[in-house]
Amino acid sequence: MSASTRIPPIAQPFVSERAKKTLDLVEEFVEKDCIPGDAVFSAELGEGEKRWQTTPVIMEQLKEKAKKLGLWNMFLSKTHFKQGAGFSNLEYGLMAELLGKSKIASEATNNAAPDTGNMEVLAKYGNDAQKQQWLTPLLEGKIRSAFLMTEPDVASSDATNIELEIRREGNEYVLNGSKWWSSGAGDPRCQIYLVMGKSDPHNSDTYKQQSVVLVPAGTRGVTVHRMLHVYGYDDAPHGHGHITFENVRVPLSAMVLGEGRGFEIIQGRLGPGRIHHAMRTIGAAEKALEWMINRINDDKKQTFGKPLASHGVILEWVAKSRIEVDSARLIVLNAAIKIDQGDAKSALKEIAQAKVLVPQTALTIIDRAVQAYGAAGVCQDTPLAYLWAGIRTLRIADGPDEVHLQQLGRRENRSRKDAIAAKLKWQREESDRLLLAAGFKAKSHL
Ligand SMILES: Cc1cc2nc3c(=O)[nH]c(=O)nc-3n(C[C@H](O)[C@H](O)[C@H](O)COP(=O)(O)OP(=O)(O)OC[C@H]3O[C@@H](n4cnc5c(N)ncnc54)[C@H](O)[C@@H]3O)c2cc1C
Repeated sequence: MSASTRIPPIAQPFVSERAKKTLDLVEEFVEKDCIPGDAVFSAELGEGEKRWQTTPVIMEQLKEKAKKLGLWNMFLSKTHFKQGAGFSNLEYGLMAELLGKSKIASEATNNAAPDTGNMEVLAKYGNDAQKQQWLTPLLEGKIRSAFLMTEPDVASSDATNIELEIRREGNEYVLNGSKWWSSGAGDPRCQIYLVMGKSDPHNSDTYKQQSVVLVPAGTRGVTVHRMLHVYGYDDAPHGHGHITFENVRVPLSAMVLGEGRGFEIIQGRLGPGRIHHAMRTIGAAEKALEWMINRINDDKKQTFGKPLASHGVILEWVAKSRIEVDSARLIVLNAAIKIDQGDAKSALKEIAQAKVLVPQTALTIIDRAVQAYGAAGVCQDTPLAYLWAGIRTLRIADGPDEVHLQQLGRRENRSRKDAIAAKLKWQREESDRLLLAAGFKAKSHL
């Protein structure tokens, strides 16, 4: 069954014939070129310092092939951008699931974070000169980028805490401070940082204190100290940088959108990006399930005289995983449809639901697959350990679960409490009235 025939019925009316054809092309590209290419990519990266200086040849070859197939920049939705491949968020969401099954497929099709979010920022908020200098080469896949918000010295899930100073001096801004978890900063092709800092720390509106400026990598005063590991994985060549800024000077033209508009930018940046992550994560969960099914039917590795698939509990893992991944996918597709019908702001609730639910679901499924493999599941002989580590970070990155749950809970409570109280009161009174009318005693209710 090809990918286009597996589209959930609920989403089918929103998917064009062109998107269906592209979806099948994406599947073939991922399964036949990218997944086998994952190992080549790792081998070409090699060991030690070389990992941060190399662009594996296979990546450029795959990019060429993807461009020829028309599999390029699918993430920029047709509803909100003119620069993309002309798909909706829902259509790209279905493609992102397939991309999520390979380490390299997203970059090979120029749909990789953080460039995707950064391109959206530049397309949405950048001026013509900024677009020409940075957006064009990013769209062409010639350079890479990083978004620098999180800081080592403050709790960054509350972005009002951000401290990096952006001080205006004559015709320049001067930046001082430190950043970490700057994903993508390790790549030798990373040429531009989008840096969030405080340009007006005393503004009485705490959401107007921040700005985003464009800082070319290698600007004097920028020091990349080290790359942080994720459960021991270095994620080279992409990496997660710890970077300091010491009297870094950029021209006033480096400001994106305007002083004090930083919050607006980060909020605009994260909506569709969260859906992309969530759909790639669904793909990772599907991959884990495939690996699990392969192991439990391995006749060479039987326990107590029968393959694992003959043990009831193992089939229950398969069944539960199928239920969980299918229901999580619907939550994400629903959020994508909501964005397509309005914008990311009108879909905050649906995006938050997907952002929280999907990584937790995928982690459970990957964990079952690991268990099915026994010790092999935790080592480098399957993709499972690496998948687990990467997806575990999604419960923290782009805002931890607790922050999204708090906002979801607050919104649900605030928007419904009065209407629910009024409805329940009316129902109690109506029930009493009906009881009395039928000759019974009215109940005493809470
Ligand atoms: C792999 C990876 C890649 C990343 N890439 C980037 C990047 O490219 N650019 C970038 O700027 N940042 C990036 N980050 C950083 C990420 O966005 C932050 O780690 C995240 O926003 C949380 O901030 P913090 O680490 O400062 O945690 P803190 O803000 O210190 O929070 C710590 C913990 O406190 C708890 N908590 C927070 N708020 C609440 C609350 N309201 N109620 C209850 N508990 C709460 C949560 O459990 C949270 O995990 C990345 C992180 C990872 C792991």
